[in-house]
Order: sequence, then C-alpha cells, then structure tokens
Amino acid sequence: MLKGKTALVTGSTSGIGLGIAKSLARQGANIVLNGFGDVEGPKSEIAALGVKVAYHGADMSKSSDIEAMMAFAADTFGRVDILVNNAGIQHVAKIEDFPIERWDAIIAINLSSAFHATRLALPAMKAANWGRIINVASVHGLVGSAEKSAYVAAKHGVVGLTKVTALENATTGVTCNAICPGWVLTPLVQKQVDAKAQAMGLSNDDAKKVLLGEKEPSMQFTTPEELGELAVFFCSAAGNNVRGVAWNMDGGWAAQ
Ligand code: NAD
Repeated sequence: MLKGKTALVTGSTSGIGLGIAKSLARQGANIVLNGFGDVEGPKSEIAALGVKVAYHGADMSKSSDIEAMMAFAADTFGRVDILVNNAGIQHVAKIEDFPIERWDAIIAINLSSAFHATRLALPAMKAANWGRIINVASVHGLVGSAEKSAYVAAKHGVVGLTKVTALENATTGVTCNAICPGWVLTPLVQKQVDAKAQAMGLSNDDAKKVLLGEKEPSMQFTTPEELGELAVFFCSAAGNNVRGVAWNMDGGWAAQ
C-alpha cells in the first residue's frame, strides 16, 4: 500500500516509534529512523522487511538538528511523505519540585519538535498533494495525571497542534491526526514500573498490575504493533478524510 513512499519516524530506535516504523515498512514504505541508543539493530530489523532504511541522529530538542534531519531525508529519498512525530521523554515530579531543565527538555522534545518537523515537511507534501502527519500524543493529551505537568502540558499542546495542522491543510491531500496511547510497556514506562516497584516493595509483575489498575480498565498494555496498525490506517485511502482527530488506544482510560 505504501510502496514508493518515505516515512520519517522520530524517536524510532525504540518502543512505539520502532513499532510504527516496522508497520509502515511492512506496507512498503522506505524509512528514515531517528533516535538515540542502538541504531544497527533497528536498522537491520527494518531492512529485513525489504525496504530502504536510513538513519539520522538529530537531537529533537534542537531546531537546527531537525532542519538537518529533514534536509537529509529529502536528499536521501526525494521527500518525506509520512511524518511521524513520536520522540518523547518523561519526568515525574510535583510542580514545585519539577526541575526547570526537565520542563524545558520535555516541552522541546515532546512538543516543539513536532512543530519544527511539521513546518519543514509541509511544503513538499503540499506540492505533491499527498501527505500524512501522525503525532504520537498520549492519553495525557486528553486528561491529566498528578506529577506529570510538563508531559501533560506538552501532549495537550500536541493535540492542539494536530487540529491546527489538519485545518490549515483541510482542502489538500495532506492529513494530520494524533494517536493517544494509554500504557505501552516500553523503556519509558518500564522506568515508572521500576519506580513503583521500589516505592511499594513490589515485584515487577505486581508493580505492572498496580500501574494498570490505577488508570487502565482493560488491565492490558497497548502494544507498539497495535499502534503501528492505527498509523497504517491513517495512511490508507480510507484515511483520506480523517482530519484532526486524537484517537485514543488506551484500554478505556479516557472513557472513565
Ligand atoms: P521509548 O523511551 O521507548 O522511546 C523514545 C524514543 O525517543 C527513543 O528512540 C529515544 O532514543 C528517542 N528520543 C528521546 N529523546 C530524544 C531526542 N532528544 N532526540 C531524538 N530522539 C530522542 O519511549 P516510548 O514509550 O516508545 O515513547 C514514544 C512516544 O510515545 C513518546 O512521545 C511518548 O510520550 C509516547 N507515549 C508513550 C506511552 C507509553 O506508555 N509508553 C504512552 C503514551 C504516549
């Protein structure tokens, strides 16, 4: 379905971004990976799906790095048809204890990076009259949780940016939508499981149950593969007129 298209997924060396990159690659899209840590493993997982893969190590907190990454993607594959703004970090603390440097980093990586990548991707998408911008927000783009001020503010911002991007391009073939996962068992969430296990003296399995039980009625983690299939739907012809939605995959979290 996506043969000949190019997808750039930020923060795709791990977790949800890698899951979405693999789902898009299974549909034939060439992939530009981004993120820190192990690069060769994710690159070979994508290459094994029979598509071309490139990597750029832009730090998503820096607009100049994002500009270099978008230029690299255009040079390598011609243009970016599908942009998945996914890179993100978390920090958990009460507002009065929240380190200022963590606030700034979360706003830069989880929110401002999506603005920069979007503004740089739009001209080529509009010229081609086809494009898909998928913002990985969170159920925290829809509801709040204590001790996550920067993350919740950034993710609500991402949902707002999604709506405006969709509206500004509503008469074109460029759509923009957000995905709002509940708990997904990635390294970002494992850190929160570990913190709970330590604070409550629980095993890893029991800490996961407590975490799910607090928020997620299904008592199940959403998987990167499930989120990848939602991204594929947004990229399909059936998604042509899906514009500005914030679609939660959260086991009922926001339904409460
Ligand atoms: P993860 O830690 O597994 O992956 C994060 C990715 O972002 C990694 O590839 C990492 O290298 C990259 N990254 C971090 N800082 C970066 C930077 N400055 N520049 C470039 N890349 C950077 O986390 P994840 O759970 O897969 O999270 C991915 C996205 O999904 C985030 O936006 C997160 O907020 C969102 N999300 C996660 C959950 C969850 O339960 N895990 C739920 C809702 C939303």
